[in-house]
Amino acid sequence: TKPSPSELPQPRLDYRSISENITSKSLNALNRKTRLPDGTVASVARAYTELKRISTELNAKRNARSAVGERVRRSSDAPEREAAIAEASRLKAEVRELEATLDVAEQQCLVSALSLPNDTHPKSPLGPESAAITLSTHGPDPLPSDIKRDHVTISEHFGLLDLKSGSTVTGSSWYFLKNEAALLELALTNYAMSIAIQHGFTPVTTPDVVRSDIAVRCGFQPRDDSDPPVSHMYHITPTNPSSPELVLAGTSEIPLGGMFANKVYSSLSLPLKVVGIGHSFRAEAGARSADTRGLYRVHQFTKIELFSITEEERSESMMEEMLSIQKSILDGLHLPYKVLDMPTEELGASAYRKYDIEAWMPGRGTWGEVSSLSNCTDYQARRLHIRYRPQGSSSDSAPTRLPFAHTLNGTAAAIPRLIVALIENGVIFNGADEVTGLRLPHALRPFWIGSKDRNII
Ligand code: AMP
Repeated sequence: TKPSPSELPQPRLDYRSISENITSKSLNALNRKTRLPDGTVASVARAYTELKRISTELNAKRNARSAVGERVRRSSDAPEREAAIAEASRLKAEVRELEATLDVAEQQCLVSALSLPNDTHPKSPLGPESAAITLSTHGPDPLPSDIKRDHVTISEHFGLLDLKSGSTVTGSSWYFLKNEAALLELALTNYAMSIAIQHGFTPVTTPDVVRSDIAVRCGFQPRDDSDPPVSHMYHITPTNPSSPELVLAGTSEIPLGGMFANKVYSSLSLPLKVVGIGHSFRAEAGARSADTRGLYRVHQFTKIELFSITEEERSESMMEEMLSIQKSILDGLHLPYKVLDMPTEELGASAYRKYDIEAWMPGRGTWGEVSSLSNCTDYQARRLHIRYRPQGSSSDSAPTRLPFAHTLNGTAAAIPRLIVALIENGVIFNGADEVTGLRLPHALRPFWIGSKDRNII
C-alpha cells in the first residue's frame, strides 16, 4: 500500500546537490548500508537533467503561447488571425502534453531521491555497531556482572512486573508494571520532564497514532520491501476506507516533527524546543532473541522525548546542548553510563550524526542502550516543509526560497530500560545473598507518590 496522502506538499529534495555529488552520495549510501538498487544516485542525476530539459522546453512553449495569444488579440487581418488561433491551440496542446511529461519526470526524480539517506557527519565512524567510538564514560564504577541482579528475578521478588498477564492479554513482550515499578514510571517521567523544562523545553503530550505518510517523511518505513514485506510498525485498520493509512508511532519524534510541518518560523523564534510524553510502539520484527528477556526489548513503552528545530548553523551546538541534558538526567540516577558516537550503519535514514548512551546493567552483564540523540539536519524538514526566515531577509521573499530548518531528537527517558538499569544496579542483598531492598536514587524522591515501605526507595 502507498503512504496515505496528507495535506502536505511533495517533499522538496536537493536534486542539484545529488547530481553534483554522485560518487560521494553513492559511497555514503553504501557506508550506511542503505538498501538501494544499483545506480540509484546516477538515476536521480539523469532524471534531474531530463527534468531541467523539459522545464526549459515548457517555459519556451509557454512564452511562445503568450506571444501568439497577443498576436490573436492584436490582429485585425482575418486570415492572419485565423492562422494565429490555430497556432495558439496547437501550442496549448503541446504545453499540456509537456506539463504531463514534467509531472512524470518530477515523480521519477522524487521516488529515486527519496530512497537516499541523509549525508553523514565527517567524524561519524564507518561500519557496524561494533565500530562505535566511546566519547566519554560517567557515573559510579560498574558493579561486577552478577546473574542474581537480573531484573526479571528481582521484579518477581518484589511483584513489580507481570509478563504472564501481558502475554495473555496481548502477546509475548507485552507487560504490566505493578506496584513500585508503576510508580517508578511516573516518577521517572516527571523527573525527566522537570529537567527538560528547566532547560527551556516546552512540555507536550503527543498522539500515539500517526499517518503513515508523516512517519515516512520523518525517515521511518512502516513496511520494508522484503518479500513478504516486514512490518516495522503496527498498522491500524481504518474503520472508514477513505481515511488515511494510520500506524502506531514508533517514537514521539514522529508526531513532534509533524507538529512543526508546513510552517515558516522567524529565526528570532529559534531554536524551538519541546519535550514530548508519548508511547512508542515497536513491532521489533527480527529483534535479537537474547534482548527480549523481561523489559529490555518490549513492544510498547513510555518515552520522554526531546525535540528541537534550529537554524542550519546551530544544529551541531544544539546536539551538544541536548546531550548535556541527557547526561544530567543520567547523572541524577547514579548509573554508570557511556556516550557513544554511532557508526554509519547505525544511523538509519535520517540521522546525520547520532550519539547513543549505554548504561551498565550488571544482571544482564552488559551495557544496554538507554537513550539516543540524532541530528537529522534538513532531512526531515525538507520532507515536512519546515523552513525559517533568516534575520534580515525580506519579509516578502517567497517561502519556497527560504532555508529549511534542522531537526534534532533525543531520548530524555525510555522508561523500561531505565527501570532495568535502576533495579539491577540498586538491588541490595544481605550477607546470605538474600534480597533485602532496592535503593533508588535521591533525585526521584520529589516525584515519588508511593509509600516508602518495603525498603524500596
Ligand atoms: P530509538 O528511537 O530506537 O533510538 O530508541 C530510543 C530509546 O528507546 C533507546 O535508546 C532505548 O532506550 C529505548 N528502546 C528502543 N527500543 C526499545 C524496545 N523495543 N523496548 C524498550 N526500550 C526500547
